[in-house]
Amino acid sequence: MDFYLRCGGEMKMDECCGIFGIFAPGCDLAKVTTHALYALQHRGQESAGIALSDGRKVHLRKGPGLVSEQLAKFNELDNINGIAAIGHVRYSTTGDDRQENAQPLLLSYRHGSLAVAHNGNLVNGEELRERLEKEGSIFQTTTDSELIAHLVARYGYSDLESSLKGVLPYLHGAYSFLFLTEDKLICVRDPHGVRPLSLGKWRGYYVLASESCAFDTIGAEMFRDVQPGEMLIIDREGLCSVPVLPVHRQALCIFEFIYFARPDSDINGQNVHLVRKELGRRLAREQPADADVVAGVPDSSMAAASGFAEEIGLPYEVALIKNRYIGRTFIQPSQQERDIGVQLKLNPVRKVIEGKRVVVVDDSIVRGTTSKRLVDMFYRAGAREVHLRISSPPVICPCYYGINTPTYEELIGSHREVEEIRAQIGVTTLGYLSHAGMLAAAGLPAGHFCMACFSGDYPI
Ligand code: SF4
Repeated sequence: MDFYLRCGGEMKMDECCGIFGIFAPGCDLAKVTTHALYALQHRGQESAGIALSDGRKVHLRKGPGLVSEQLAKFNELDNINGIAAIGHVRYSTTGDDRQENAQPLLLSYRHGSLAVAHNGNLVNGEELRERLEKEGSIFQTTTDSELIAHLVARYGYSDLESSLKGVLPYLHGAYSFLFLTEDKLICVRDPHGVRPLSLGKWRGYYVLASESCAFDTIGAEMFRDVQPGEMLIIDREGLCSVPVLPVHRQALCIFEFIYFARPDSDINGQNVHLVRKELGRRLAREQPADADVVAGVPDSSMAAASGFAEEIGLPYEVALIKNRYIGRTFIQPSQQERDIGVQLKLNPVRKVIEGKRVVVVDDSIVRGTTSKRLVDMFYRAGAREVHLRISSPPVICPCYYGINTPTYEELIGSHREVEEIRAQIGVTTLGYLSHAGMLAAAGLPAGHFCMACFSGDYPI
């Protein structure tokens, strides 16, 4: 699915943000945070920012675009002798790409400075915002980070953790928050644990990241996942864990394994690449195909395709080459430009495909229109048959937990049977992985995951 998102096609199902935090007095915090944000860049390309505390003041640098586009600003933080920092990369949802929404946000209130960054979405965010606005609050952004900062400021305790304990029960939704004050770093993960958040160790200090691949990049070690409902307070005294919200049902987003997370990340002790490979294996058992060769859609479906090929005993081939230099700013307002966009982004290896019966493995079908373009590309390259295999069940419902998805009407799986989708896309055969197969590959029972976009069973 990756290519149609990144080339700005009609697809809308993408991650909202990546966050990173570090408490390591006297260390090269701006550099380390920048490197970690590079590793999290796949989670958001609309803006990047770093807030860094020198113990007396919190400094902020942020702006639109990729981490690399903010490097000059981040380098300005190099000369500051910092104690802690938080960083953020943002993927904006529709109509929400205002520059003011770049994070972290930095606010001053009566107890000092507060920088906030988050990943996720509060389902009661609008309701809380309206209530605060009626009472006189003025918002400069549409982010949940600003909302929680307002609530914290109103709560009034001089220590942030006490205010958070008062505020958090009012928040409903999927969130991982990072807070930075002059002298401490605090994180909170929602009681369902929808969005991932990991704790690592770096040179004896603690680091936090949306995904463990950020730890590998900076030379940190994975320590553990932050638990659902847990608040961690990190300061010069060390680390303090507070179970701040009761956990009734865990609901990690299963799409993290299928598509969002980087394959070199571990979540819940499971490696994402290996889970994807297992998704492919199970897909081959459930939905075999009489074919000559197996290919994956770059990048997120390559692992599933290799698992499929291994399981079914067919050669695995790289049949599509992705152009990595198109960039996120490639906009395609018209149909014609969108078609060209797919060709610019992906090119088939004709000699691999020509005259063959090809199994194409992709991670999901959302609207279906781009899958059709993809399949047409295989036929134009001379494929005799195209057997599309999807390493997840049909997406039938939108996500309200921080992922940009189309409406019910736009989701092809919500109103079409598999055979209708097959005919619309124009493939020889179409097969999806079952719910049971997806869960078995992810390695935990259904009660541990959010699968709402596949089932309509919303955990929150
Ligand atoms: S609805 Fe789907 S994309 Fe959204 S959190 Fe749940 S599993 Fe993830």
